[in-house]
Amino acid sequence: MTSKNESLFARAQRSTPGGVNSPVRAFRSVGGTPRFITRAEGPYFWDADGKRYIDYIGSWGPAIVGHAHPEVVKAVQAAAALGLSFGAPTEGEIVMAEEICRLIPSLEQVRLVSSGTEAAMSALRLSRGATGRDKIIKFEGCYHGHADSLLVKAGSGMLTFGNPTSAGVPEDFAKHTLVLDYNEPQQLEDVFRNMGEQIACVIVEPVAGNMNLLPATPEFLQTMRRLCTKHGAVLIFDEVMSGFRVALGGAQSLYGITPDMTVLGKVIGGGLPVAAFGGRADLMKFLAPLGPVYQAGTLSGNPVAVAAGLSTLKLIQEEGFYASLAKQTARLVQGLSAAAKDCGVAFCANSVGGMFGLYFAKDIPASHSEMMACDKSRFNAFFHAMLDAGVYLAPSAFEAGFVSSQHDDAIIDMTIEAARKSFAAIA
Ligand SMILES: *Cc1c(COP(=O)(O)O)cnc(C)c1O
Repeated sequence: MTSKNESLFARAQRSTPGGVNSPVRAFRSVGGTPRFITRAEGPYFWDADGKRYIDYIGSWGPAIVGHAHPEVVKAVQAAAALGLSFGAPTEGEIVMAEEICRLIPSLEQVRLVSSGTEAAMSALRLSRGATGRDKIIKFEGCYHGHADSLLVKAGSGMLTFGNPTSAGVPEDFAKHTLVLDYNEPQQLEDVFRNMGEQIACVIVEPVAGNMNLLPATPEFLQTMRRLCTKHGAVLIFDEVMSGFRVALGGAQSLYGITPDMTVLGKVIGGGLPVAAFGGRADLMKFLAPLGPVYQAGTLSGNPVAVAAGLSTLKLIQEEGFYASLAKQTARLVQGLSAAAKDCGVAFCANSVGGMFGLYFAKDIPASHSEMMACDKSRFNAFFHAMLDAGVYLAPSAFEAGFVSSQHDDAIIDMTIEAARKSFAAIA
């Protein structure tokens, strides 16, 4: 084992709970010592011991054009030289808003914030303020950040820890959150029939990426669209992960469904803290300073972060960007599946655009419970074999993976080669 990572981890645990600033980084699910990263470039990053990894988390999505892309770095440097933050509006924020609304037409207006958590929390408050209703619907296994109302049987890191709800969330908040099963349209029908006039919003990941990768069925999304319209509830697509990741127009463009509001993050900041929520102008007008729903942020629309976001949004609009990203991701999952088959390991994989899922199961899981039935100890063994071979996968069996435009054929082939040996080792 690598000594600098170990000593940094020991030191980190003295000053920070668990040694990390976001739980899944701590490797609790897979065991072992987290790697402390010193630098990253293109499809790679390097740890404190100088070991190089092919990176398949890409900062959990943002690094879609690869790490330290020269144009993004240049834009950030230029913006930084003009001042880091003003607490007053800038033209860059207008360009960013115009760009987001142009690329995702269901957004007539948008507000910039600094994290996906903040964006989802604000979208929820806005939907409650606009409808005058308290109840919200979310789905088991979907993650929408760590706001109180949403940490009710939350997914992602929480699932990994086998801890269905967070301590510190008052029951009085949680009781307004109805948690239904993903891809079960009949449950939506039943709940809306019984209490449709009390429901402020339905919030959903249209391609779920926080319980491994699980795409919604068209029927599931069509049902919630129809019921929200019928009962006057706000349909919120949380595209923090899927936005600008599964397609240029997000999952809503793939499914052809128009949500009332959309939550964005990750890719739109290109690696710096930018997130956003937006939607129909008649809903957005409830937001302060126009309307009664309060929301604010000292660093919202930060000029350096916006510069990183805008240069990333420019790069992803290059001709053929998403076709190529999807092709490389599909090539990866096909290669991994073939390697596992050769080694007799029960494994399958799936991808949507630049997002992928790895499942230690005979068939691709179609529900949250099937997802939970995947062989977690097999995944953990595979994770460590790959890590040793210089491939960094998400350190949890319940997270999606991410490919960047810098993952070329040679990188994908190296990954498949490493996987072939790793599958053989754990077979
Ligand atoms: C990552 C994520 C969030 C939270 O975003 P943060 O920037 O980590 O607060 C919310 N929703 C989804 C779907 C996510 O993947």
